[in-house]
Amino acid sequence: MHKEHYTVAIIGAGVVGTAITYALSKYTDLKDILLIEKHGDVAQLNSNSVNNSQTLHSGEIETNYSIEKIKETRKAANMVLNYSRSLPKKLMENIIQPCQKMVLGVGDEEIELLNKHYSPEFKDVFPYVKQISKDEIGKYEPNLLSGRDPDEKLVALFSKEGYMVDYYKLSKSFLNQALESKKTTVDVHFNESLKRLDEAADLYSIKTDKGHYTADFVVCAAGAYSLFFAKSLGYGKNLGILSVGGNFFSSKRVLNGKVYRVEKEGIPFAAVHGDPDITNPKITRFGPTVSVYPYLEKNNRRSMFDYMRSLGIDAKTIVSLEEILSYEGISKIIMRNFGYALPRVGKEEFIKNEVKKIVPSLEAKDIKFDKGVGGIRPQIIDKDKHALVMGGSAITGKNIIFNVTPSPGATSCLSEAMSNIQYLVKSLDIAFDSDGFSKDLIEPTEKSYKSANKD
Ligand SMILES: Cc1cc2nc3c(=O)[nH]c(=O)nc-3n(C[C@H](O)[C@H](O)[C@H](O)COP(=O)(O)OP(=O)(O)OC[C@H]3O[C@@H](n4cnc5c(N)ncnc54)[C@H](O)[C@@H]3O)c2cc1C
Repeated sequence: MHKEHYTVAIIGAGVVGTAITYALSKYTDLKDILLIEKHGDVAQLNSNSVNNSQTLHSGEIETNYSIEKIKETRKAANMVLNYSRSLPKKLMENIIQPCQKMVLGVGDEEIELLNKHYSPEFKDVFPYVKQISKDEIGKYEPNLLSGRDPDEKLVALFSKEGYMVDYYKLSKSFLNQALESKKTTVDVHFNESLKRLDEAADLYSIKTDKGHYTADFVVCAAGAYSLFFAKSLGYGKNLGILSVGGNFFSSKRVLNGKVYRVEKEGIPFAAVHGDPDITNPKITRFGPTVSVYPYLEKNNRRSMFDYMRSLGIDAKTIVSLEEILSYEGISKIIMRNFGYALPRVGKEEFIKNEVKKIVPSLEAKDIKFDKGVGGIRPQIIDKDKHALVMGGSAITGKNIIFNVTPSPGATSCLSEAMSNIQYLVKSLDIAFDSDGFSKDLIEPTEKSYKSANKD
């Protein structure tokens, strides 16, 4: 019989929604979960393999992060690593692969930023990250030097302990494991879209385009739409979203690993970088670009009206947008990226301003715009502070959580799952095996990280 009431309903089967479903089914004694996803499969938007940069963000190459954010990111990344390592080898290799990483400083200003970033505290967190000279850079990534002005100064931070992740396959694996749970029944409704959430006595009423359900607790993991639904229930009034779209270009394979560029601390998005593609070893991807769109989802023009409602146009919003967009670091990036999506000129500008800083010998004819690929990073605006929030945000209410997850949200999926469960068990009468969670997903990596990269 069609079930209508659930203890927990989760909206959205991206990497965050599936990670929460997995963690609830494995580490709690919850009896039933309803997972509603408007697409026909998991991870069809930002969490899809080709729509993000596939980086496991551990904090070594993110010069825009503070040391606190670095430590938090590293812990979250380790959870994904530990989860993947617990899988059969073949499956693990499909989901995650080791890949060297570097962050490249070009010229005096960037080198100074990099030197400042490579502080004793940073070295303490990452004993295996080396500062390398121009010659060593050429050893690991020959194409970074070929065609470059010999007088141009270069320094990099380098790690062999990087990883690339297929977040689609990771999501799939989370869901498959959840479906195998013997104690938790997981009902998955694909191709079904949440239309309306209402609070009804001690329950939530969940109306979709296909049915009507109730749940004791709702977890919204619907990307930027989480804020839309939060606002429909009166939550997150002081928040808005700056939708930062990201596109990719690609070339034949010219890099051995990930090459990030120096970005100033406090800027919420990484500068354009070069990455291998876990789904296609023959290419190198360059991106993501940084474009501001009035949409909640990429390639979903109808989400424009919902974007306006999520933003909430009032005096505070206008002042916040004005302050954010006039901040030199952000406005410069947005202006520079503005033309990259234009036919022809876009490619020329992208090569000149971005790609040549990484691989100087590449020309516009060597790269192509990856049509239909990429996503939108829902950067949260704190309207009280008139500023962008670094990273994700969970808005909590009575028996409800709304997860909004810009980068590095895919890396943080299990860490989000943990904090969601910690909040959820306060309201529901269920037990969380936090020792088991910690033993499986937090503890195993600590030793191996410390002993890594000895050479
Ligand atoms: C260009 C780009 C590059 C990035 N690179 C990285 C990276 O290298 N590393 C990293 O860690 N992170 C990266 N990120 C961030 C990362 O992709 C996201 O943080 C992560 O995928 C968010 O997962 P999610 O499950 O919250 O959202 P999503 O993957 O967007 O999933 C939300 C789900 O909710 C569903 N949904 C929405 N509305 C409804 C509704 N009404 N009813 C039912 N279902 C609904 C959607 O269909 C979707 O499946 C990048 C993001 C972008 C855009």
